[in-house]
Amino acid sequence: MATRKNNTLKLSFETGWKYDPAPESKSSAKIDPRYELFINGKFEKPLSKKYFNTINPATEEKLSEVADANVADVNKAVKAARNAYDKVWKKMPPKERAKYIYRIARMIQERAREFSVIETLDGGKPIRESRDVDIPLVANHFFYYAGWADKLEYAFPNRTASPLGVAGQIIPWNFPLLMAAWKIAPALATGNTVVLKPAETTPLTALKLAEIIQEADLPPGVVNIITGAGATGAAIVNHPDINKIAFTGSTDVGKLIQRAVAGTNKKVTLELGGKAANIIFDDAPIDQAVEGIINGIFFNQGHVCCAGSRLFVQESVYKEVIRKLKDRLETLIVGDPMDKNTDVGAINSKQQLSNIHKYLKIGQQEGAEMYQSSCPLPSKGFFCRPTLFTGVSQSHRISQEEIFGPVLAIQSFRTDDEVIEKANNTPFGLSAGVWTDKGSKIFNLTTKMRAGVIWANTYNKFDPTSPFGGYKESGYGREGGLHGLSAYVNLT
Ligand code: ADP
Repeated sequence: MATRKNNTLKLSFETGWKYDPAPESKSSAKIDPRYELFINGKFEKPLSKKYFNTINPATEEKLSEVADANVADVNKAVKAARNAYDKVWKKMPPKERAKYIYRIARMIQERAREFSVIETLDGGKPIRESRDVDIPLVANHFFYYAGWADKLEYAFPNRTASPLGVAGQIIPWNFPLLMAAWKIAPALATGNTVVLKPAETTPLTALKLAEIIQEADLPPGVVNIITGAGATGAAIVNHPDINKIAFTGSTDVGKLIQRAVAGTNKKVTLELGGKAANIIFDDAPIDQAVEGIINGIFFNQGHVCCAGSRLFVQESVYKEVIRKLKDRLETLIVGDPMDKNTDVGAINSKQQLSNIHKYLKIGQQEGAEMYQSSCPLPSKGFFCRPTLFTGVSQSHRISQEEIFGPVLAIQSFRTDDEVIEKANNTPFGLSAGVWTDKGSKIFNLTTKMRAGVIWANTYNKFDPTSPFGGYKESGYGREGGLHGLSAYVNLT
């Protein structure tokens, strides 16, 4: 049966059989030519008087221009957030706060199509991902934390939870709106106010969220959304009137932030890089595992901090797994992110694409063997072929450093102890995956692996009730679930 299926697959790509294009319509996406800063409930021109372009990475065309907030703009946003905190939000009965958060959740659901399209246009991820994963999770996150707002005494029994004050939140480009939801929803539910900065390459859905926040009549200043690059982020981090910094992004910037807040009273959570190990034992359902590996590293261009970027295959099934992976790689559709058939969309920026190319060179120079799918790439935009490396060793940079692209470094192993040691041997510890038929093996591995999230016989599954975060250089603090609430409260 398996062989027949493989032959069919092979035949389909060898004969050039293709899906017809199935593009999603752009008509639901209303993108203004210019966006201002969302401060104190209004869209305000930046004091900096500066703007920068945001482009579609799949076509390199300009989508809009957004304000570039400077220190004075950050000051203005923090002042608005402080004022809203002192005068309105911390005093509001929790069940009233919850109503606003529920309203935001429902409005996101109503405009889910528009959000999905803009997320894909601005970020390059396939529409299937933004439509089926990102945006539903965003709404669920707001619903989940709205539910907690008036039940904090049950979340923290026998303790009193009080808000921290103003939260400065800085997020990356891989899940733009989802990261905004992860940050804003628990902060509001616990009575904090917010200054949020999206990444400079993907600001549009956060600005659209600002429109919803305005329509939902959230009191002015409770959520402020300001755009800009690293300097704007640094101004938020260094602002003396911010009580809490929540950051998701690179380990390098995480370390800078850690240094900047040392000696202050700011509370910090950092969700940083990863180099997740996906481990396949010989008793695993192999076809299911191969699909899970493909999903874990290729479906989102590898733009996921918890991407399964290292694969460990037990020696007795090594050849079979590699053959099946290569076959599946050939059937992946790389191209227009707006096409519903597309599996692998655009790399988020030119800079990120050149970083991935740098690692492809390093991998080959280190002596690993590279295999890429033979798919054609669009002539415009930033695209990368899904890539496998075999013959990888533990010391290779491609098995130690985060590449953040569709690149999988593969090694074999013989015993449980060997693979645990290899899997743990990176500076990171965000996530991992284990594929086996044996529950005992799952328990053995999950207790010995140093990773914040470990999936068993599945991968990249998210839920608002489940905490997420890392060990070691992957950061500290947890987002999601009850743990996500505790990052925004003082307990007495
Ligand atoms: P990535 O590699 O995922 O782009 P970055 O850490 O560079 O990660 O970016 C994540 C977020 O951090 C972005 O919003 C970016 O603008 C912001 N950022 C970059 N440099 C700094 C800095 N020095 N201080 C605070 N925020 C920063």
